[in-house]
Amino acid sequence: MTDPVASSEIRVPHSAFLTDTFGRRHNNLRISVTDRCNLRCTYCMPEDVTFLDRSELLTFEEITQFVKVAATLGVDKVRLTGGEPLMRKGLHKLVRMIAEVPGIADIGLTTNGLLLAEQAAELYDAGLRRLNVSLDTLDPGRFRELSRRDGLDRVLAGLETAKRAGFAPIKVNAVAIRGYAELDVVPLARYCRENGFEMRFIEYMPIGAEVWERDKVFFAQEILDLIGREVCPLNSTKSDHTAPAVDYEYSDACGRVGVIASVSRPFCQQCNRLRLTADGKVRNCLFALDEADAKALLRSGGPVGAALADMIRRSVWEKWEGHAFNTAQFVKPDRTMHAIGG
Ligand code: SF4
Repeated sequence: MTDPVASSEIRVPHSAFLTDTFGRRHNNLRISVTDRCNLRCTYCMPEDVTFLDRSELLTFEEITQFVKVAATLGVDKVRLTGGEPLMRKGLHKLVRMIAEVPGIADIGLTTNGLLLAEQAAELYDAGLRRLNVSLDTLDPGRFRELSRRDGLDRVLAGLETAKRAGFAPIKVNAVAIRGYAELDVVPLARYCRENGFEMRFIEYMPIGAEVWERDKVFFAQEILDLIGREVCPLNSTKSDHTAPAVDYEYSDACGRVGVIASVSRPFCQQCNRLRLTADGKVRNCLFALDEADAKALLRSGGPVGAALADMIRRSVWEKWEGHAFNTAQFVKPDRTMHAIGG
């Protein structure tokens, strides 16, 4: 835990943008709107999880107030995550509230897709434009093994409905775990090619409830080799250098595939992300061991704009160079993925 006295003595420059000591500008805010989920993915959360009480969750008004302050500091991208964000009732209302915040140019959502068929149209009407759907397999048996629930058919129905609603491109995110990926990478790549979705494979990271084993990581190069061999050769293509994914295009120009190689090709040098948890904590990294309590400020009753701006600036200024899970120094955060948000 950072020493509050030392930390408060650090002078944080008041620049127009949220920049850390490594010169990284932070304009991308990931907001977890709930820790609840209707799946129990083995690499994310324990089966017998205890969720936050509703009173612990930031209200839509508090989240929007935070976004307003962050926007004055140069944040222009917001991604809504969970748990499963579509379990938060009336989420389209929050999308509309954030879409009206001056300076916010881009709103995205990461969902497991189970509730997408019911909500895709109202989310699109509210101003949501970017959609990532988490789907690790097209096999019902492995779906149940990995997520400890059924629901593959509802995810596929959600993807179809979202496509009809106008979302494009829709990205499909799959966590590649050895023992599954060998069977799922090719069918998923083919499915996305045939349906006009962009496939993203994510290397398995130590952010879940189970003990992480490096041997269970199915590495980016193995994924690319498999697709190049079994689906269609791939050519590297231009990627947004701040985005976690490195993109490739099929040599026949029929689609793109991305890999998020946090283990084998860490991308912390270009990180532009900070996070707000469902219970109002500011995290400057997915693997952060410290948090700042924005909820206490937001519920302090007084005008909080300046104090909240200072808190956000300080959190970014104190950000470390990157995750350390390739080193012996790595300490796993207390929170698991469902309580942080992707
Ligand atoms: S591990 Fe932390 S610093 Fe690295 S890319 Fe992810 S959020 Fe950014």
